Amino acid sequence: MSSRYAPLFSPLRIGPVTAPNRFYQVPHCNGMGYRMPQALAAMRAMKAQGGWGVVCTEEVEIHPSGDIAPCFEGRLWSDDDIAGLQLMASSVKQHGALAGIQLVHNGVDAPNWYSRLAPIGPTAMGVIGGSGYEPVQTRRMDKRDIAQFRRWHRAAALRAKRAGFDIVYCYAGHGLTLPFHFLSRRFNDRTDEYGGALENRVRLLREILEDTQDAIGDRCAVALRFAVDELLGRDGIEADSEGRDVVAMLAELPDLWDVNISGWSNDSASSRFAKEGYQEPYIRFVKALTSKPVVGVGRYTSPDHMLSLIKSGVLDLIGAARPSIADPFLPNKIRDDRIDDIRECIGCNICVASDNKLIPIRCTQNPTMGEEWRRGWHAETIAPAASDNSVLIIGGGPAGLEAARALGQRGYAVTLAEAAIELGGHVRHLAKLPGLAEWRRVIDWRIGQLQKMANVNLYLDSKLSAEQVLEFGFQHVLIATGAHWRRDGRGRSYPFGIADAAANAGANALPRYTPDDVYAGRLPSGQVVIVDDDHYFLAGVLAEKLAAAGCRVTLVTSAPLVSYWSQYTLEQAGIQRRLLEQGVTLRTQHTVANIGEQQVQLVCTSTGRSESLACDAVLLVTDRLQDDTLYHALRPALERGQLSSLRLIGDAEAPQIIAQAVFSGHLAAREFDTDPVDEEAVGFRIERAAVPSSTG
Ligand code: ADP
Ligand code: SF4
Repeated sequence: MSSRYAPLFSPLRIGPVTAPNRFYQVPHCNGMGYRMPQALAAMRAMKAQGGWGVVCTEEVEIHPSGDIAPCFEGRLWSDDDIAGLQLMASSVKQHGALAGIQLVHNGVDAPNWYSRLAPIGPTAMGVIGGSGYEPVQTRRMDKRDIAQFRRWHRAAALRAKRAGFDIVYCYAGHGLTLPFHFLSRRFNDRTDEYGGALENRVRLLREILEDTQDAIGDRCAVALRFAVDELLGRDGIEADSEGRDVVAMLAELPDLWDVNISGWSNDSASSRFAKEGYQEPYIRFVKALTSKPVVGVGRYTSPDHMLSLIKSGVLDLIGAARPSIADPFLPNKIRDDRIDDIRECIGCNICVASDNKLIPIRCTQNPTMGEEWRRGWHAETIAPAASDNSVLIIGGGPAGLEAARALGQRGYAVTLAEAAIELGGHVRHLAKLPGLAEWRRVIDWRIGQLQKMANVNLYLDSKLSAEQVLEFGFQHVLIATGAHWRRDGRGRSYPFGIADAAANAGANALPRYTPDDVYAGRLPSGQVVIVDDDHYFLAGVLAEKLAAAGCRVTLVTSAPLVSYWSQYTLEQAGIQRRLLEQGVTLRTQHTVANIGEQQVQLVCTSTGRSESLACDAVLLVTDRLQDDTLYHALRPALERGQLSSLRLIGDAEAPQIIAQAVFSGHLAAREFDTDPVDEEAVGFRIERAAVPSSTG
């Protein structure tokens, strides 16, 4: 290890336990939860193996009255829930890390759709969780309820200790938890000793900290996760007033302060909206008020930045969720002086989207994330080559690059041919759009790795035809030729495309643009209508780019919100705000019926009413068409036996998010040269609910 980073590797005492180093995986959701305990344990263990000194669970519900089903979080409702968490704790600890658990009661956030218990909170009010619009209210907790909550929390802490955890959290953050709801004036209108002045509102949090210390503090450290600022101004907790006061009041009570900003979209801000270290201005006061260790997050991937935080006394431990997802081996790579090998998080929040979509976690940068147990994938190692076969990969986008990298790592002789004069495929264009520069890390990391491999040859400016492929005599070919955007407007809201009414009437047709035109530097001008039927980030970010270039932009979407899918990445509100601030006109729940001369015909998706909208150009962000011609041209050669294998990967197979292109390339590399996959088989392990065997 370079002595330069030694401070990041010095052990640190946290209450009765000692962290082996300063790398701390803070609690994070993952869409697996209590449903997939083996997958979860394997995922967390990978991080411990990769050097994270503390590895925590996600939030773990302590009681069915704080149930946020259908989300899959942890559960510690009864002794029956201990086994799954015990597996996680022991899997983490076998690598020398400490295991942490974040206990939660979701209070006003929990609609209790599964348990069907009455939600509880400091005040009787509409539940804020779920969609945010659930027809459910809380019951105002009385003193008996408060005492009962304290007993549940204490019982859960004892179970956590039995499960083998070293650090047990009391959780008052993200606007999500009962103690936080008591703290916040927004949720607490009580007039008893739990309401009114901050000293009263903090009482419940103080009590559960004391209860937890009393119950398990002999062997476990008690951590407090606290949101010091909600970015809501005077309506919320603020770092320069109540946030600071809470830290001062409880300063020495927990063994560890885990501090951040709230809500989740602020804490997990995407790279489009926040850069590395964005939480520092809010949390840097904390260490001055407590002698206890402090951990904080900020999508830290730079070892020098981490070092400066420790040295300057801002933090004692470097907290991370996303950087540990993108690279479970980040600490070991710093330890081993392999800084260039760190696979840096790009801040796209696809990991977050997995949890919000109630599916197992995945990551754009790390295709093995979530696949540790079900596919047996290790984040760093891969089966060596099974033969001396060589492979030709055509297309150097994320799919082709990842396939080349993983096959190169296996030891195969790999040739990658890319038509353009630069590697990176569509991602190199995306990374030039407003706010998306960090997305280049997907291609830069892979190019960096490939350049170190003597067995991989990269050819640029090499557009290959089927004849050339056969002439070269390669036996194994992967086609990663990507996709392009449709110009006819076809998409899910436009099954017949968008008609050109002007051309049909013999008039001048309006110019149609696609994102590929913008990538190539052909920008529309004047009044531009963007038609979004993709619904993720692209139409929104193109609107931003065109508005900045002086266009008057109207964004038309059939969805009820612009960039609808970006709700799952926690970006929708920020995107909408930014577009409105830039003067973009938003026409939701509308489609474009046809494109006329100097205007388009807009139709309301509810009433069918139409209106015309004057414009100079139309930018169509609807469906993409696979560029699979080469694959189909080579298929006969495969059938003739002239090729031994031919596989279509990435967007050329089915256009999707970048994470899927990377995954597809990785999967192809893992499966290369293995026994043919049984087409009837699922292809990965599944965790199934145990069903008592029939006695009869
Ligand atoms: P993916 O997301 O699946 O990786 P991309 O569209 O990002 O797909 O990348 C596909 C890459 O394939 C592009 O860089 C494109 O230039 C390249 N490509 C397409 N056709 C050919 C071809 N015939 N020969 C070489 N490269 C090609
Ligand atoms: Fe980072 Fe994106 Fe991976 Fe999440 S999915 S860890 S934000 S690269």
